[in-house]
Amino acid sequence: QCVRACPCGALDYVRERGDVFTAINDPAKVVVGFVAPAVRTVVAEHFGLPFDEASAFIAGVMRRIGFDKVFDFTFAADLTIMEETTEFLGRVSSGGVMPHFTSCCPGWVNLVERRYPALIPHLSSCKSPQQMMGATVKNHFAQQSGVSLDELYVVSIVPCLAKKYEAARPEFAPEGVRDVDAVLTTTEFLEMIEMLRLEPADITPAEFDEPYRRVTGAGILFGASGGVAEATLRMAVEKLTGEPLLDKLDFEEVRGFEGIKETTVTGGGVTVRVAVVSGLNNIEPLARRIAAGEDVGYDLIEVMACPGGCINGAGHPVPGKVGQMAARQKVLVNIDRTSYLRKSHENPDVLRLYDEFYGEPNSETAHHLLHTSYAPFRDAAVPTER
Ligand code: SF4
Repeated sequence: QCVRACPCGALDYVRERGDVFTAINDPAKVVVGFVAPAVRTVVAEHFGLPFDEASAFIAGVMRRIGFDKVFDFTFAADLTIMEETTEFLGRVSSGGVMPHFTSCCPGWVNLVERRYPALIPHLSSCKSPQQMMGATVKNHFAQQSGVSLDELYVVSIVPCLAKKYEAARPEFAPEGVRDVDAVLTTTEFLEMIEMLRLEPADITPAEFDEPYRRVTGAGILFGASGGVAEATLRMAVEKLTGEPLLDKLDFEEVRGFEGIKETTVTGGGVTVRVAVVSGLNNIEPLARRIAAGEDVGYDLIEVMACPGGCINGAGHPVPGKVGQMAARQKVLVNIDRTSYLRKSHENPDVLRLYDEFYGEPNSETAHHLLHTSYAPFRDAAVPTER
């Protein structure tokens, strides 16, 4: 009954875990898994791990489960910042459609397509990090490693039910090949650990694999509300001023659990007014005003459907204690604070990927593989079968 009632179609895809085990047990398949930033906050909480051990623990679990390659899709968050900040600054300099809305959250994109189609031109054309990572693995990694698309099976591990639906959208299956073959939630991932009777002592911490090993603190912040905006500002301010951002990397005013947070930055004679909205109920009043043509006083608006962002996604176990959400956010903030790399545009592995494959941000290849377009829901195509 729930499957039929689910408004975003995500519950049609709840049975993917069996398919993932089947792929892992098929010697003809190369199974690639990648894990979202917010998942580590819950894995740390579940196993009582300190923040700086969570990522290596997850990589170790994924290897133990049997994934052939394990990637951190924080890498794709960095890639998203390269693409989206370039797109946003292009709109600023050319007088493009404003305000610019982020498009990382499929719950928010669904709301625009279903209820506010007039806002479609405001959405960034960037795919979400999940879909950018899938497209990069299915194209760059496949080419570099000589693995055929028939052999390659790509699994995303995320905090989100809506990402199951997103992976099945027809625009993310060019020529019938999905960017992402299966999507597992954090809860399903924890259940896999239980089904295999793995204990923490059975896990050897590991590094994520090349060629996407290095990630930044900016990308990690994507897991909580304000993270996309903060990562964008770290790049945008440097591009606008032409100066390295040394003393103020933290934009704390956009972090946290309030429904709407704001900041304004100025650089190179340009002022950027930013709003960060978490919880879809908080965007509706603004969305109605913008759809009616009103200037609401913002240039960049980050929207995350879940209150607090992906640390509160429906694919995680439900928080049972007061303070649990703040603890999840702190895991991400601490990883960022102690990261050697804290700006997406300084990630050497991302820069190498541009050198050897994408060319430059917003290039023709990048547009082909990392960007998308949207349509009002009544015109939407039917989701793809796996
Ligand atoms: Fe998914 Fe919620 Fe994160 Fe949006 S905010 S991507 S719906 S977990």
